[in-house]
Amino acid sequence: MLYRLNRSGFKAYLVGGAVRDLLLGKNPKDFDVATDARPGQIKKLFGNCFLIGRRFRLAHIRFRGGKIIEVATFRREPEESVEGESETETDRNNTFGTPGEDAFRRDITINALFYDIATFSIIDYVGGLEDLSRRKIRIIGDPSERYTEDPVRIWRVLRHAARLNFTIEDKTARAIETHRGLITNCSGSRLFEELNRDMSSGYALPFFRLSASYALLPIILGNIGMRIEQSDGMMDTLFGLLNILDGIIRKGEALSQDIFYSILFWPWVNEVLQEKGHKSGDRMKLLTDEFLASSMPITVPKGLRSNVIHTLYILERMMHAMQTGRMKWALTKRARYHEAATLFSLVEHGRIRHGEDSFAVSFRERFPTRNGIGTHRRKRRRGYRKGTHSQHTHG
Ligand code: ATP
Ligand code: MG
Repeated sequence: MLYRLNRSGFKAYLVGGAVRDLLLGKNPKDFDVATDARPGQIKKLFGNCFLIGRRFRLAHIRFRGGKIIEVATFRREPEESVEGESETETDRNNTFGTPGEDAFRRDITINALFYDIATFSIIDYVGGLEDLSRRKIRIIGDPSERYTEDPVRIWRVLRHAARLNFTIEDKTARAIETHRGLITNCSGSRLFEELNRDMSSGYALPFFRLSASYALLPIILGNIGMRIEQSDGMMDTLFGLLNILDGIIRKGEALSQDIFYSILFWPWVNEVLQEKGHKSGDRMKLLTDEFLASSMPITVPKGLRSNVIHTLYILERMMHAMQTGRMKWALTKRARYHEAATLFSLVEHGRIRHGEDSFAVSFRERFPTRNGIGTHRRKRRRGYRKGTHSQHTHG
């Protein structure tokens, strides 16, 4: 495919993460190509080509087996900020450029290397090779300017440093401290996409550890992050769970977004419920209200948020049952019971047991004399008043 562009007289380089990963001896996740052919010209050359993208016109070339190679025309940094652009600005963002300009608009030096298939050589406009060998993450250009242009680059610096276990170059690091607040201005849905990438990368723990050391948790997670930052216990719980999560993902197991976000929010949910749960008749409402009041800049889609809260509410009741021997078994009929049981095994045993109700098994082991699902004695607590919902949460 690089050859076909070459034969037609175009430059075509392998770019971005793929070059970096190949040089590091890692398996690239995907292959991106940059070329001086315009999107229309790319389309003419490849029958299996689809032009996509609102912000930037890109060509997706599809191969058998579903593999997609993204081909983009060399660009330069647009003059305008990319946040909140309107449809008519698409053209302005589509500012084509030279290969050199394309390298300089990229985020960090090790992500701006080009591999030229025609000469089998690396083209390095930005000192990326040296940084690669010194294991350094360095912003291209002036970090303050580049972070101001696009604050997500702060997030990307931390991501790549964490994943590769590279050190962050001094200026690149210092400007994080002065500019990290800008992240809250980014679009919530874009931040959500970034968070998804780190939760599912197999390097969630190193990413969160590093982010915490740059005081980023209160910025990306609002008051939730603030609480985590201020509590060693919550931080330890979170890091422990992320470690388990990373292990599962690195073994190649796919987990749902529900599970990712339930893990992320569990230490906080548990804290809120221990603190205020007993006073609240409706724990799910309590959690939703607290979540919405957290001024987190990331937009967690409503459906996901409600699933996660539901799941964690059940999980908390399971943990409570393991302490007290009392469980409201009606919860087993709830939609999210299965996810809660999966999380229970993750939190309690550090792994996911498939094909069994891990909570029911553990509960019976600890309380062999209590009968399980559906056969428990209903116990009226003294002081139970008609019209309150206290029994709902304690049965
Ligand atoms: P991954 O292995 O996670 O895919 P990646 O480096 O390929 O890492 P992508 O998000 O796929 O990251 O982006 C592809 C390339 O686009 C990057 O290597 C980088 O050169 C460039 N890039 C991505 N985001 C930005 C940004 N915010 N600012 C400047 N350049 C960026
Ligand atoms: Mg990539």
